[in-house]
Amino acid sequence: RCRKTAEPLLSAFAARRDSLGRVKATRRKMVKQAVGGDPVAPPEGFAPNSGVDSYEKYKVMHDRSLEDPKGFWSDVIEEGGLHFEEDFDRSQDVFSYNYHHTKGPIDIKWFPGGKTNLSYNALDRNIKQGRGDQVAIIWEGNEPTDSSTLTYQELKDLVCQISNYLKSVGVKRGDRVNIYMPMLPELPATMLACTRIGAIHSVVFAGFSANSLSDRILDNKSEVLVTASGVLRGKKLIPLKQIVDDALEICEGAGHHVKTCLVLENKHALAKGKCSVKDGRDVWWEQAITSQPKECDVEWMDSEDPLFMLYTSGSTGKPKGVLHTTAGYMLGAYTTVKYIFDAKPGDIYWCTADCGWVTGHTYLTYGPLLNGVTTLVFEGVPTYPDAGRCWSIVDKHKVTQFYTAPTAIRSLMGFGNDWVKEHKRTSLRLLGSVGEPINPEAWLWYHEVVGNKNCPIVDTWWQTETGGIMITPLPGAWGMKPGSATFPFFGVKPVVLDEKGNEQEGACEGYLAIKQPWPSQMRSIYGDHPRFETVYFKHYDGYYFTGDGCRRDEDGYYWITGRVDDVINVSGHRIGTAEVESALDMHHSCCEAAVVGYEHPVKGQGIYAFVTLMDGAEANEDLRKELVMLVRSEIGAFAAPDAIHFAPGLPKTRSGKIMRRILRKIASNEYDQLSDTSTLADPSIVQKLIDSKQK
Ligand code: ATP
Ligand code: MG
Repeated sequence: RCRKTAEPLLSAFAARRDSLGRVKATRRKMVKQAVGGDPVAPPEGFAPNSGVDSYEKYKVMHDRSLEDPKGFWSDVIEEGGLHFEEDFDRSQDVFSYNYHHTKGPIDIKWFPGGKTNLSYNALDRNIKQGRGDQVAIIWEGNEPTDSSTLTYQELKDLVCQISNYLKSVGVKRGDRVNIYMPMLPELPATMLACTRIGAIHSVVFAGFSANSLSDRILDNKSEVLVTASGVLRGKKLIPLKQIVDDALEICEGAGHHVKTCLVLENKHALAKGKCSVKDGRDVWWEQAITSQPKECDVEWMDSEDPLFMLYTSGSTGKPKGVLHTTAGYMLGAYTTVKYIFDAKPGDIYWCTADCGWVTGHTYLTYGPLLNGVTTLVFEGVPTYPDAGRCWSIVDKHKVTQFYTAPTAIRSLMGFGNDWVKEHKRTSLRLLGSVGEPINPEAWLWYHEVVGNKNCPIVDTWWQTETGGIMITPLPGAWGMKPGSATFPFFGVKPVVLDEKGNEQEGACEGYLAIKQPWPSQMRSIYGDHPRFETVYFKHYDGYYFTGDGCRRDEDGYYWITGRVDDVINVSGHRIGTAEVESALDMHHSCCEAAVVGYEHPVKGQGIYAFVTLMDGAEANEDLRKELVMLVRSEIGAFAAPDAIHFAPGLPKTRSGKIMRRILRKIASNEYDQLSDTSTLADPSIVQKLIDSKQK
C-alpha cells in the first residue's frame, strides 16, 4: 500500500506550508507550472560533456539520419568500431521496405549483404579494445549481502561455455531456445550465448505461470529450455523448476516434446535436492557447463537473420511474439544507449527491468555491453528489505545512470522521502523512465528528491516492437517538460495522424504513427506475418501504427496520451487516459489512478476512475467530490469523472503496467468477459475490485 509523505513535493515550499489546503494549491500550481511553463533545463555542466550538447546539433544529426541514412549509420559503425565480418553492400540503399499492405507483403530490410554478430560486438570487440579486465556485470542478489562481478573476459568465457553446451545438444543457427531464469548473471549470459551461435532466444519472465510458459513454448516449438531451481523475490519463493515441470507436462499433452532442460541451481533460493529431475531431459548446469571449453567461434549472421523473439507485455490482449533481426537491432541498441544515456567508459549503469521484458534486452544486456560500460543485474525487488533498497544499491555500487518505470517511481514516492534521503546518491548522473506515461507529479519527485535536481530525466517512449527508444530527451541537448518524451531519436520519423489517416502539422493531437523504418524495428510476429500486418499496418496504409495516442505542443514536444484503445469519447470529446490520471494523481490522498470509459446513456461514454488511496486517507463523499473538482479545474468539465471507485489496488501486468482492458470490463459489469488475465501480476485483484464496486 502506498503512503505518501506529508512533505510537499518541492522542498522549497516545505517551510511555507501552513494548511493542507494551501499545500494542495501550491503543489498543483507547481506541477502546472512545470508542465506548461518553461522547460526544465539540463543541470549545469551536463551539456558540455554530453554527446549532443544542443538542439541545433541534434537537428543537424536528426535531419541527416533521415536524409542520408547510409552516411549517418556508416559513421555510427565507424565511430563505435562496430565489427561487420562482411560489410553491407554500399552500392544499394541502406534499407528497403514496403509499408503498404495494399502493395504486397510488409517487408523491412536494413544493411543488405552485411554479416555480423551481436555477441561478438558486445564481448570480443570490447576485449580487443582493451576492456577484458573491466567489470561487465555487477550482480546484486535478493539479499543485500550477496553480490558478485564478472569482467568482460570472464563473461565471454562463460558465454562460450554455454554456447558450446547448446551446440552439443544440437542447437543450430535459426533454432529457438526458451529462457526462463531469474535475474542472475547467467541469464544475460545465456542470451549472449544464443546470439553467439545464431540461435533465437525467447526469454519468458520467470514468474509467469506454467500455462503462460507452455503457451509460449508451444508457440515457438523450441526443444530446449534453460531455467533455474527457483528464485527469491523479497521474501517470496518462486519454485521455477516446479513450474517448468508443469509447463512441460502441458506441452507433452499438446504433443510437443522439450528434449533438453538445462537447470541452474540458484543456491540463494532453492537447493538442488528440492527439485525433481527427469532423466534424459533435465541436466544440471554445473555438470553441463563447467567442463565446456571457453572458446567458441561465432556464427556470422546475415543482417536480416532473426536475432531473438519476445512476447509483448500483454497489456491489451494475447501477447505477440515480436521478432527482431541482427544488424538493425544491434545498431539501435548501441546508438540509443550511447546518446540517450550518455554512456561513457567507467559508467555503472543500472536498468531495473527484468530480462523478461524488452527493456531488459536492449537496456540491461545488449545496449550497455555494446557500449563497454558496466551493467547491473538485480535479482530482488525495490522494497526488500526496505523501501530504500534502490538507493542503497546506488551508493554501494556507485551507480551513474538509473533507469526504471513510473510504477516503481510512484510506489517508492508513496513510501516517503526519508527512504531516499538517508542514502547519498552522489554517483547518479542521469535518470530514466519507461513503460507508461509518467505523470508530472511523479516526474517532479524523481527529479527533485531522487536526483536532487542534478540529473536530467530521460522519459523514453518506445515499445517491444520498436526494439529501442524512439521518442526521448537527449539529456544535454534541450529542456525537459515533465510528462513529455520530447523529440524523436535519430532515424525516427513520427507523425501524428487524424482519424482518417491524414498527417497533421504543428500543434495537434491524434494517433502516433511512424513514417519510415528505423534499424531496430520488428520484422514480423513469429509464425504469424498476417497478424503483424493487421496489427501494425492495416490501420493506416503506408505507416507503422503504434497503437498510442499523442499530442504535439506548440514547441514541437511530443506527449504520449495513452493507448488508442483506451481513449474515451465523451460527448464527442476524445480524452486520453494519461491526462485525467495525472490530474487525479495530484491529489494528496490519491496514490495511483486509472480511468476507463463505460457506456453512458447521454454522453455516449462516461469516465470511470479507479483510485487507490494513500495510507491513512479516508474514502468518503467529500474526497470523491474533491477528486471530481480537481479534474474539472485541471482539464475541464467535460473530463470530470462520472464515477470514482476507491479501489484496493489496480490490475497490472508483471512489468507493472495498468491493464485498463480489465478495468473497462469491471466498470461495465461485464465480469464474464475478462478474457486473458494470465499476464496479470496478481490475478486475485480482479475479484477484489468487483467486490469493492459500489452497489
Ligand atoms: P501489448 O502490446 O501486449 O498490449 P504492451 O504494449 O504493454 O503490451 P510493451 O511493448 O512493453 O508492451 O509496451 C509498450 C507501450 O508502453 C507503448 O506502446 C506505450 O503505450 C507504453 N509506453 C512505454 N514507454 C512509454 C513512455 N515513456 N511514455 C508513455 N507511454 C509509454
Ligand atoms: Mg503494445
